[in-house]
Amino acid sequence: MSHISDVIRHFRVVKGQDFQLKHFNPADTRGFKDRDAAAELLQEGVKKLAGLQDRLYADGRWSLLLIFQAMDAAGKDGTIKHVMSGVNPQGCQVFSFKSPSTEELSHDFLWRTNRCLPERGRIGIFNRSYYEEVLVVRVHPEYVTHQKMPEPLVTKHLWDQRYESINDLERHLSRNGTVVRKFFLNISKAEQKRRFLKRIDDPNHHWKFSSADTTEREYWADYMDAYQKMIRATASDCAPWYVVPADHKWFSRLVVAAAITETLESLDLKYPTLTKTQQQELQKARRILENGKKRQ
Ligand code: ATP
Ligand code: MG
Repeated sequence: MSHISDVIRHFRVVKGQDFQLKHFNPADTRGFKDRDAAAELLQEGVKKLAGLQDRLYADGRWSLLLIFQAMDAAGKDGTIKHVMSGVNPQGCQVFSFKSPSTEELSHDFLWRTNRCLPERGRIGIFNRSYYEEVLVVRVHPEYVTHQKMPEPLVTKHLWDQRYESINDLERHLSRNGTVVRKFFLNISKAEQKRRFLKRIDDPNHHWKFSSADTTEREYWADYMDAYQKMIRATASDCAPWYVVPADHKWFSRLVVAAAITETLESLDLKYPTLTKTQQQELQKARRILENGKKRQ
């Protein structure tokens, strides 16, 4: 069984030009035998993350943007819920991006997500993101017509231009203290089918099923092609992609938790130290409190 940092490194893509999705097995568990083998490490990771987030908040200089992209039923919601379960809700915000509204379509494609970027000291989670603009929209290019773009600007360079805008944005964010990490939960087509059937069979999961999901399944190869192109064009040192095997939920959670804790640990987060004057103020406050107590 490999060390967890080797596990994460295996799935991290920072240079995209040679990236091939077929080299990443959705059922991979890197030698972890089963859920039980990973349970302790996962629990440790979740606990560590809670402590790190507390320091991120107190430190107040950095922010962390976590982006989740995946095919339906790959477990985005569950992973976010589980991995962030110990985190103080005040320091963390989740935004889900669905089909854009009329208002959102009246702006450039980065507008709606830019409004939701995390402030310093916070963790922002994007459940889907501006990457949909080079995924679902690339698979269904007719969606571009709803976007009200001036026609002369819609050329064969559109996708490359979008990658460029995204790379520029992520570089800008990282230069200004927002650390960007991106997770592609890589589920296999067979496992997606199994999960869809389970949703149909279980009345408690009916709400999670939409017939549109089965339609999108027919475009599986196009989606995989779009994911591969996207990762090739947008993996970078400042904003790496993690291609997380997602056929085993316990393993994807382990990888995501470990990748986030490793990222936060690399920031050398500190609780602010008080200046001499502030320390004197603190002692003064103590004296006032204690004297007040005596007077009662
Ligand atoms: P779940 O199914 O787990 O509830 P979800 O994220 O799949 O969560 P849905 O409401 O099922 O939520 O789907 C959102 C849909 O919106 C997805 O099919 C996604 O591709 C689509 N979408 C998101 N952003 C865009 C966009 N910019 N343009 C067009 N479609 C988009
Ligand atoms: Mg859905």
